[in-house]
Amino acid sequence: MRPRDLSDHVEYRAGRGIEEVARELGRDPEEFVKLASNENMFGPSPAAVDAVEASADEVHHYPTADHQDLTAAIAERWDVTDEQVWLANGGDGALDYLSRAALDPGDAVLVPAPGFAYYGMSARFHHGDVHEYDVTTDDGFALTADAVLDAYDGERIVHLTSPHNPSGARFTLDAVERIADETSEETLVVVDEAYGEFADAPSAVGLLGGRDDADGTDASASRAPRDDVAVLRTFSKAYGLAGLRLGYAVVPDAWADAYARVNTPFAASVVACRAGLAALDDDEHVERTVETARWSRDYMAEHVDAPTYESHANFLLVEVGDASAVAEAMQERGVIVRDCSSFGLPGCVRITCGTESETERAVRELNEVLA
Ligand SMILES: *Cc1c(COP(=O)(O)O)cnc(C)c1O
Repeated sequence: MRPRDLSDHVEYRAGRGIEEVARELGRDPEEFVKLASNENMFGPSPAAVDAVEASADEVHHYPTADHQDLTAAIAERWDVTDEQVWLANGGDGALDYLSRAALDPGDAVLVPAPGFAYYGMSARFHHGDVHEYDVTTDDGFALTADAVLDAYDGERIVHLTSPHNPSGARFTLDAVERIADETSEETLVVVDEAYGEFADAPSAVGLLGGRDDADGTDASASRAPRDDVAVLRTFSKAYGLAGLRLGYAVVPDAWADAYARVNTPFAASVVACRAGLAALDDDEHVERTVETARWSRDYMAEHVDAPTYESHANFLLVEVGDASAVAEAMQERGVIVRDCSSFGLPGCVRITCGTESETERAVRELNEVLA
């Protein structure tokens, strides 16, 4: 026998790794810098590294208490109830939980094009259909409520990425609210804030309402908490824990009960939970990361000899003409960047913000390649 008909499904294409590229080119991995997957330029928080080491001899236990502790710490940070935090195996895992909780077979989701491939993949895994809204305009990738609402046709989930990957653009909170207001009551708006730490803007979590609303005592709340918006966050980017696979969704109070019915038991490992807890406490590491990313994207935008798009994330999209040729030439020179052809942008590469020296090297090499 064979698997079900998967001809509609697409493979996820990740940014290329140093080992992979070095082996292919027969070169020393030391010669390369990877600026292709939006990982943290400083690595993980040292506190998280300690937590990983310290948890090694605990891994024969299921992560019951660890799950609870991390969930409670995240809930506290966002001022929501523990039940509103859906821990998962990466932000991608959280997308799966939302698909499972929301989609009946044949329901459709609305996703940005170009955009993050996993929204559509997750929907298809859950027997859903995928519709797209276009986020390209003549002058870039302005993310507006109109772009979404013009394409909206009663889909069950609308995916917004803010800041957006690969453009770096973002939605205003007003736009998110308008989209939630003007879509059906049965449509969930999922705001993917995987790069939220890098944007100088408030999180959509503020639209959800939390602890105080749950017991009806929050007299200061200026608006009613929404039950049709969920927010995705991850430890993979600003927190530097991409390899541990840890992320979560913050969901409306009304959705809280669904987690127990849809989650894969123990979605996050003991090691991931402990590292996440330590990383959450290490504000200094996140601040340094965010500051450096902002410097790096400004530096690149100023010094790259090619058009770029304003970014609120830890990467910059650059218009280079032939992305695949430029990415390959960059790779020869030891700098791995993301060819955005797989996003449907064959003219663009996406460069992750590196350290100061990595950033300067990337700009130097890119300008030589372009010349
Ligand atoms: C990186 C990323 C995620 C989540 O990645 P995980 O490693 O699974 O947490 C989600 N959305 C976008 C747009 C991303 O770029």
